[in-house]
Amino acid sequence: MSGQNLNRPNILFIMSDDHASHAISAYGSKVNSTPNLDRIANEGVRFDHCFCTNSICAPSRATILTGVYNHINGVKTLGDDLDGRQVTFPKLLQADGYQTAIIGKWHLGHGGNYDPTGFDYWNVLPDQGDYNNPEMIEMGNKKRYEGYVTDIITDMSVDWIKARDPERPFMLMSHHKAPHRHWEPDKKHMHLYEDIDIPEPETFNDDYATRSQAAVQAKMRIDDLNDQDTKGTPPEGLTPEEVRSWKYQRYMKDYLRCIASIDDNVGRMLDYLDEAGLAEDTIVIYTSDQGFFLGDHGWFDKRFMYEESLRMPFLVRYPREIKPGSVNSDIVLNTDFAPTFLEYAYLPIHERMQGKSIRPLLRGVTPDDWRTSMYYRYWMHLDGCHEVYSHYGIRTHDYKLIYYYAQALGTTDSRDENRPPEWELFDLKQDPYELNNVYDSPKYADRVAVLTTELEQLIADAKDEAIH
Ligand code: CA
Repeated sequence: MSGQNLNRPNILFIMSDDHASHAISAYGSKVNSTPNLDRIANEGVRFDHCFCTNSICAPSRATILTGVYNHINGVKTLGDDLDGRQVTFPKLLQADGYQTAIIGKWHLGHGGNYDPTGFDYWNVLPDQGDYNNPEMIEMGNKKRYEGYVTDIITDMSVDWIKARDPERPFMLMSHHKAPHRHWEPDKKHMHLYEDIDIPEPETFNDDYATRSQAAVQAKMRIDDLNDQDTKGTPPEGLTPEEVRSWKYQRYMKDYLRCIASIDDNVGRMLDYLDEAGLAEDTIVIYTSDQGFFLGDHGWFDKRFMYEESLRMPFLVRYPREIKPGSVNSDIVLNTDFAPTFLEYAYLPIHERMQGKSIRPLLRGVTPDDWRTSMYYRYWMHLDGCHEVYSHYGIRTHDYKLIYYYAQALGTTDSRDENRPPEWELFDLKQDPYELNNVYDSPKYADRVAVLTTELEQLIADAKDEAIH
C-alpha cells in the first residue's frame, strides 16, 4: 500500500436517481426548496454545466464507476449489466488503502460478474428496489428492511462511517433510489404541497414545431403518465388540457415529496459529519445519474440530449480546497468523476479512463486546455415504452447539434426499426429552451459545418464510430 502518510480526504459520494437540477433551490428551482442540498452549494461549489454522456440510469452509473463512455464499458442501455472485471475507481481506491462501500441503488446487474466489485462492504437494492420495506442484497445475501428507503440508506451510511477504521480514509457511495418513478413519498412528506399548485414550466405546451420527429413521437408526455404514476385516475368531466394539468400536479407533488426526504436525509449526513469532526476532511458530493423533464417540453423522464435531461446537478463541498459559495460554468462530465477521485487519492489516472480530474476547477482554476465541447450518445432506440430515437450530438457553451441516427444497431432494449435520420441545431444563447431548431437556416450553415467537423473529432477521440 502507498500513500498511507498522505493526508488523503474521505469521499462521501451521495447520488440520487433522476433528480433534476431545476428541482434544487441552489439551482434556482421554481418548484421546491432544498435547504440541505443548498448547504453543500453554499459551503462549496455549484457546477452549472455538469453533463451526463448518456441520459439514462445504468449507463450513467457505469460511466461514473469506470470513467469511460458506454461503448467502452459495455453498458449502452438499460438492458446491459456492468461486467465487474473491468477497472473502476472504487477498485483502485480500495487497492490503495481506502475503505470503500456502496449502499443503496446499484442497478448494474447481480450475480456472476455483475455484483458490485471494489467495495469492502456493499448493500444494494435489487434492480430498481422498493420505496417501502425494501429488500436489499448485503454482500450477496438478501434481506428485507422495515421503513422508507431513503431513511434506511442514510441510516446504513452513517452506521458504516461510524464503524470504519478511523486511521484510513473512506469512500462511501450513498446512492438513493428516490426520486425514481413510481414516486412514493414517505409519511412525513405525504401532505407537503397539498394546498398549493406547482407552477408549470415555460415549455409545458411545447408543440414541437421546427423540431425532429424524435421529439414529436416520444411517448413520455405528461399525458402518458399512468394511474400508477398519478396514484389514481383523473376526475370525470375534465378537458384534455385540464387532465394534463391534473396529471402534472399529481406527478410533481409526489416527485418533490420524494426529494424533500432526500433533502432531510442529506441534512442528517451533513450533521453527522459535523458531530464526528469529519467535515473538514471529507469531500461531499451531491449529484444524480442524470437530469429529468419536469413537465418541460410537455414531458417527464429523460433520455434526450435536451438541457433538462442532459444536465446533472453537481454540488461539491471540501473546505480545504473549495471556496464557499463558488459557481463553476466549465463543461464537466460524468466521465470526470473517477479521475477526480483518483487524483484526490494521489493515484495516477488510469490510462483507460476518458475523463479528466476536475480538481483544478474545485480549486477555482480552469486550465487553458479545458474542454469547450462534449460528446453525448443515447443508444436505446424505440424501447417499446418511451419510444425515444437513438441519437448523438455535441454541446458547446453556445450551441447544441443533435443527430438522430434512429437505428437500433443491435443494442439491447431497442427495436430494430429504422426511422429517417434527422438533425437539430440549437443556438443556446438565443434559444435557451431549445424550441427553435435552426439546422436548416442558411444563417447557421457555417456553424453547422464547424460543429459537424468537431462532432466527428469528438467521436474519434472517444474511440466511438460515427454513423454515415
Ligand atoms: Ca436515473
